[in-house]
Amino acid sequence: MTTGFANIKGQDDAVRILTQWVERQQVPTCTIFAGPDGVGKGFTAEIFARILSCENRNACGMCEACLANRFGEGLLRIEIDEIFSEKNLSNKTAALKERLSVADRRRVVPYFVVILSRAERMNPSMQAALLKRVEEPPPGVHFILLASSPEALLPTIRSRSHVVRFAPLSTEVIAEILEVTKGSTEYRLLKSADGSLSRARNLLKKYGTGEKIEEEFWKWGTKRGGKRAELQEFLEDAIPVLAQLHPSWKEPLLDFARAVDSNANVPLSFSVLKDRIG
Ligand SMILES: [Zn+2]
Repeated sequence: MTTGFANIKGQDDAVRILTQWVERQQVPTCTIFAGPDGVGKGFTAEIFARILSCENRNACGMCEACLANRFGEGLLRIEIDEIFSEKNLSNKTAALKERLSVADRRRVVPYFVVILSRAERMNPSMQAALLKRVEEPPPGVHFILLASSPEALLPTIRSRSHVVRFAPLSTEVIAEILEVTKGSTEYRLLKSADGSLSRARNLLKKYGTGEKIEEEFWKWGTKRGGKRAELQEFLEDAIPVLAQLHPSWKEPLLDFARAVDSNANVPLSFSVLKDRIG
């Protein structure tokens, strides 16, 4: 169960701004949460929505509004990706409008927060439909647009929005959230997640520890008839991890990847690499 801002790790600047808004009871109608994927933009938006409506301003979980919010009364999350993946959907703008219309219904909580995930994917017509809403919002309705590249949003939307920036997470914070011990091989694996919690989770799920990725890497050298494209895909994950585990391998590994890219013989490239790293 998510509660107050204390649950948000590693985004102190963003939390400071949001806390001020809650304290002053001044919340912009439209806010853009800008930052890379997997750093907690959506998680923060949901917590913020619950805090806004809470009678105790901390998502206490016990007041009437919090109880109602447990069933999602005060927030609506619209996944733009989902609209794009729906087949046989001739009019994406109409689909978005229909989802947005939920904000009009009567509610038992004072605030209603509409969160649009991957907002930058909206085409201009969808953005225009949203803009109409932002210009004349129903009372108590606030919009939060989650975007990794906010510059893809129309200037008219950006000029009506406050931007709150979310930074990549530090490895320490990711390790704390995922309960990984500093200095362990898993910890080194996390370093190649580019500050993204979701990427870190995927890496851990896929490879457990760095050793497993290393084991798999050398297996590719003995595989007969392995597909080059598959190897290239694997290398995208593996090279940053291996370079973290063995810093001196970095250059040889990059040369190796270039050789694979340029169609060099794979077993031969592996033996060249082995020679170089001793
Ligand atoms: Zn409450």
